[in-house]
Amino acid sequence: MNTQDEVVVKEVYLDYNGSAPLDPRVADAMTPVLLEGVGNASSSHRFGRYQTAVVDRAREQVAALVGGRAADVVFTAGATEANNLALRGAVEAAHGDRRRILVSAVEHASVHKVSRSLSEQGLAKLDVIPVSSGGFVDLEEMEELIDDDVLLVSVMAANSETGVLNPVDEIAERVHAAGALFHCDATQMVGRLPFDLQRVGADLVSISSHKICGPGGVGALIGTRQSLRLIQPIIHGGGQERGLRSGSLNVAGIVGLGAAADTAADERAAEASRVVKLRDRLVADIKAKIPDVHENGDTIRRLPNTASIRFEGTDAEAVVTQMDPVAVSTGSACSSGSIDPSAVLLAMGLSRDAAFETVRFSLGRFTTGSDIEAAAASAVTAVQYVRSMTRETF
Ligand code: PMP
Repeated sequence: MNTQDEVVVKEVYLDYNGSAPLDPRVADAMTPVLLEGVGNASSSHRFGRYQTAVVDRAREQVAALVGGRAADVVFTAGATEANNLALRGAVEAAHGDRRRILVSAVEHASVHKVSRSLSEQGLAKLDVIPVSSGGFVDLEEMEELIDDDVLLVSVMAANSETGVLNPVDEIAERVHAAGALFHCDATQMVGRLPFDLQRVGADLVSISSHKICGPGGVGALIGTRQSLRLIQPIIHGGGQERGLRSGSLNVAGIVGLGAAADTAADERAAEASRVVKLRDRLVADIKAKIPDVHENGDTIRRLPNTASIRFEGTDAEAVVTQMDPVAVSTGSACSSGSIDPSAVLLAMGLSRDAAFETVRFSLGRFTTGSDIEAAAASAVTAVQYVRSMTRETF
């Protein structure tokens, strides 16, 4: 019998790494643009100039969040597009002998798939940098792979499934020593922990608005004065965004991203210390009530909001279904009708079975203590139920 609906009636959203809820303050910043903004940001009349002014303000806000220059912010439709622009843009612009790209084994699909596509088209040779069981890029393995034929290295700042943080400053140093470009997908890191493009030494940085309580469908690639000259557009047209991303701007979305960046920069530190306590309490509550519960990846060097938890002897998809209306996720991907285990967890050395037993909990700005109590109770009941059903079946 499924007693879930009797035990938990409270809706709880713990899938911030998938997409964070819109902050009402961000909605307030967007409303006048949506209701009163008219005209194309490229137009020189007063309506157009208003659109340009609000976009420029957002450019400053985004630059401030990542320590870049406003002039080096290229607005895109999200981190997927920013990642594609960075990798394809660099490869297609390259002249000379540097034709290899290195990407870590735990990158988002948008990095993996564009690099595979570049390799299949014969435009670049792709090498994948392995990660350790803790989920970090293996620096020694990277040293082995990197050479003066490498054009670009792409390593994410924080992993979306495990929250594990890569040693991006050390990576940048080694990449630059080899004369290559360093692209860092900082989508999950910005807004949660400090990330400064210049201090890290990243040449190209991808971010996405909806991961930081902004609207969906907008993001940015932030470069440096030099790096943006080394990429070419993947979308051609009217020449907006320094010619690197044509298309009339999504002004309301961009204003929302700017407001989200501003709020995140102000509140990041306080939010991180609040959320980390909630995350640790959630894990401790669950572990205290049921056996054979393990966290994947390094539990120290990771985002404050994420826990990747393996419930031995369960099917994580069944646990997630049972936990409704508490929203959590698995890292499994659906491809051609079959379910694939998380590529991130496999790259860290987990077996397929262990990967299929893993649930991701990701918290954020609006998560409360009572959410955590409800989520822990829901997870415990769901795991016990799925384990009992599994035992009955076999
Ligand atoms: N990179 C990372 C690390 C992500 O977590 C995501 C979103 N899951 C993306 C890129 C893609 O972002 P978007 O869907 O906004 O394009």
